[in-house]
Amino acid sequence: MEEIHDALFEEKQISVFVKRDDLIHPIISGNKWRKLREYIQFAQLNGIKQIISFGGAYSNHLYALAFATKAFGIKSVGIVRGEELNTNSNPYLEQMKAWDMDLHFISRSNYQAKQIPEAVPQANSLNIAEGGFGNKAIVGIAELSKEIESFKSLDYLICPIGTGATYLGLCQSLQGVKIIGILTLNNKAEIEGNSQELGIPIQTINDQYVFGKYAKQANVLDSFCEQFHQKHQIKIEPIYTGRMFYGLYDLITKDFFKPGSQIVALHTGGIKD
Ligand SMILES: *Cc1c(COP(=O)(O)O)cnc(C)c1O
Repeated sequence: MEEIHDALFEEKQISVFVKRDDLIHPIISGNKWRKLREYIQFAQLNGIKQIISFGGAYSNHLYALAFATKAFGIKSVGIVRGEELNTNSNPYLEQMKAWDMDLHFISRSNYQAKQIPEAVPQANSLNIAEGGFGNKAIVGIAELSKEIESFKSLDYLICPIGTGATYLGLCQSLQGVKIIGILTLNNKAEIEGNSQELGIPIQTINDQYVFGKYAKQANVLDSFCEQFHQKHQIKIEPIYTGRMFYGLYDLITKDFFKPGSQIVALHTGGIKD
């Protein structure tokens, strides 16, 4: 847990701490390890030999899974969205292949249906949903909540939302702290649906920092991430943590938080270099 300083925070009398889950491991970074842990343990305890999961060509989840399964001696299969791709399409896919992940590239419609190709043997195997979403991922986040609670009294926790596993896990296990999730995709309805299905009441979900796909908005995020790095010596990326910190600065600027508030921002990792 690391405090960051800024003239803005001082002016508004706000304390901001960063929970550095990005430092957990250079590859299985941030929330990806929190979410995978229970699955790996389950596989080990139940004689499961292979884990199958899904993701896009740049999926942090599949990347972490490829490394983790290799490290724990479990086979892995990555079902990747986009039949036009191959193992050489980007350095991450190449690296995943080098870690012995069995990669399969499928069409967008088959991906939508989460269709596992017939060529993939499925005996003794565990399936993990896209992005690692699932009950075991949510359970894994409880450990994180304990670490945060042991730190000091905090008023707010802010984190980015992808599938929402991290956010829902925090809503389930983190006591006495208001939890703000910053959406990175337009999937609020899906998160709310999962919250109902799993019986986990959600707190504040903020959809003001999703940004569009326009180049100009992407530039805003890219330069924000660069400035943030220069100022605080903490690397962030534009997809998740960039949006979260951008949102945090904006909310502080707009006096969303009362003076004296103590906020922790969860650095969920995602830096692959
Ligand atoms: C995957 C990822 C997220 C999203 O986490 P969810 O639990 O899917 O909401 C957030 N930040 C980073 C850096 C990620 O890689």
